[in-house]
Amino acid sequence: MTDNIKIGRVFWFEAAHHLPNHEGKCRNRHGHSYKLLVEVEGPVQAEAPKPSHYIHPEAGMVMDYGRLKQVVTDLVLDRMDHAYLNDIFPNPTAENMVIYIATILKHQLVPAILTKVELWETRNSYAKWERE
Ligand SMILES: [Zn+2]
Repeated sequence: MTDNIKIGRVFWFEAAHHLPNHEGKCRNRHGHSYKLLVEVEGPVQAEAPKPSHYIHPEAGMVMDYGRLKQVVTDLVLDRMDHAYLNDIFPNPTAENMVIYIATILKHQLVPAILTKVELWETRNSYAKWERE
């Protein structure tokens, strides 16, 4: 029997947006320091059986944190960091952004499974996507 383990990593990026439908201050162009949490789940990958000349680079891990960082950087941060989010989303709410981020990451982290994405727009406010 194999235990599934969850691992995650936190990322930060800066971006500007405005919410075109908002009736208050968020209608004005402004910026946030976004905190993005990405969590994956999977079995700890097997150590190479002995004797063996091949050791899997992710042996003993769910996935390499460095690979997780690379995928999120390539697919999310390179597009959104220091961007004007209204160029990407018609209505860049944290909810719309977190759905988009989960959708583009979902199939890029195999064999790990994406289980949670949290997007913190301020220290107090976040939107969360969770695998059902
Ligand atoms: Zn805002």
